[in-house]
Amino acid sequence: MTKEFNYDVVIVGLGPAGASLAYFLRKSGLKVAGVEMNGTEGVWGKPCGDAIGKHHFDETGLPYPSSDALKQKIEGIDIISPYGGVKLRVNGEGFMIDRNKYGLFLINESAKAGIDVYLKTRVLSPKLESGKLVGVRAKNEAGDDLLFRGKIIVDATGNSGLLRRQLPQSWPANEPLDPKDSNIAYREIRELNYDIDEPTYLRIYVNQEVSPGGYWWYFPEGRSSANIGLGVQGGMGYPAPNVIFKQRLETFDEVRNYTKVINAAGSKVPTRRQANTLVWDNFIGIGDNGYNVNPVHGGGMGYAFVAAFHAYRTIINAFSANDFSAKALWDLNINYIKSIGKRQASLDIFRIFLQRLSNDDIEYGLKHGIMNADQVYETSVSGELKANLGLLDKVSVVLRMLGRPSLLPKLATVATYMKRVQQLYDAYPTSPEGLDVWVSSVKALYSEYKAKIGAD
Ligand SMILES: Cc1cc2nc3c(=O)[nH]c(=O)nc-3n(C[C@H](O)[C@H](O)[C@H](O)COP(=O)(O)OP(=O)(O)OC[C@H]3O[C@@H](n4cnc5c(N)ncnc54)[C@H](O)[C@@H]3O)c2cc1C
Repeated sequence: MTKEFNYDVVIVGLGPAGASLAYFLRKSGLKVAGVEMNGTEGVWGKPCGDAIGKHHFDETGLPYPSSDALKQKIEGIDIISPYGGVKLRVNGEGFMIDRNKYGLFLINESAKAGIDVYLKTRVLSPKLESGKLVGVRAKNEAGDDLLFRGKIIVDATGNSGLLRRQLPQSWPANEPLDPKDSNIAYREIRELNYDIDEPTYLRIYVNQEVSPGGYWWYFPEGRSSANIGLGVQGGMGYPAPNVIFKQRLETFDEVRNYTKVINAAGSKVPTRRQANTLVWDNFIGIGDNGYNVNPVHGGGMGYAFVAAFHAYRTIINAFSANDFSAKALWDLNINYIKSIGKRQASLDIFRIFLQRLSNDDIEYGLKHGIMNADQVYETSVSGELKANLGLLDKVSVVLRMLGRPSLLPKLATVATYMKRVQQLYDAYPTSPEGLDVWVSSVKALYSEYKAKIGAD
């Protein structure tokens, strides 16, 4: 017999998106269930680079990781060019976190404040009655059939998109991920047999031959261990990242000089603009599920926090109005776009360009100062391409570009489309009725852009 539970809000998945939402809602007075298939030891168990910018905590009010959940304080990132000729140092504070400990902290605080947490409970499918989403079916460890009913159902199951992809095809929230808009990533946490120089700086190695359409990273966790991994663009037929790790990364001294592998695993990460809509009637999808990720570097924890923060406000408003329709939940789209989504879309345009560059182009561009460290930082913050484009007519830049004549005009095209996509996001529809027309404009812009830069 199926056991039934009634809630205001049912959050499925307690990873960074779901657990932070539960935490934000903990004092709301709403009846909230958080349903997670893993037990305590597997909380936030998805393999990750574990790095996150401090500003995401400041933006959302989430507490910084306490000492036991903090593996390393970060002062910045070194971006290293393909042939090692250039190292750009981008300063910015951040943390290497212990995901399990930080995740458990958020979940425990939520449970203490009255959120009902169901661990080791796997959600199987959405429950629809007369075409309306009313809950989710689940199974617990004992094999009991469960039905969690809720006025709002939140899919925070990560890139599995468990509920979203089982919604009716006609619902715009059911928007599949093109594999080319993802990175397949793999990482190992290794104990090293040497002392790391400058453990407060993350290292990102851009090298299209080692990690095509992605990058490989070396993120210190203290003086003698590091999270080392790589991502490759999905859907392109590239070798699996764990195979590349063994064949290519092991050739680098800082990787192969180790004593122990503490953990090794891989997964997928979406690297695109956010889903066309994060909501539909009685439904919210956030985190990897709503493609809330930085498309250029694939960092998704901070974006999940921001999406959860706006989802929390939307949920509070929806309960005040006692309306859970797509229209009532729509302000989640608007607020996410205003805070981070517009920039995310613009960075998606940039990402598609970056994935087409050769090692020679990247080395040349970095070496000749087309973009410096400040510009890399500003581009990632503003979503507007900050490069020395305005100098096109200056003799010195033209001379510098003689070795790569096609690169600067291409960058100018990218900058134009980054602006144009931002304008489209400024014109995001104010209610669900306008979504179809808007999505057609986005698709048209992307097709035009891809044709111009020769991407498919
Ligand atoms: C190798 C790699 C390295 C990365 N490095 C970084 C990095 O350094 N920094 C960064 O910010 N991001 C990084 N990312 C991305 C980041 O890991 C994700 O964006 C982030 O974890 C997304 O959080 P989420 O809550 O949306 O999804 P998830 O972390 O995937 O959490 C989803 C939760 O839902 C649960 N769940 C799934 N299905 C069910 C079900 N049927 N029933 C119940 N529960 C379910 C899962 O158990 C899980 O707890 C990396 C990703 C990869 C793959």
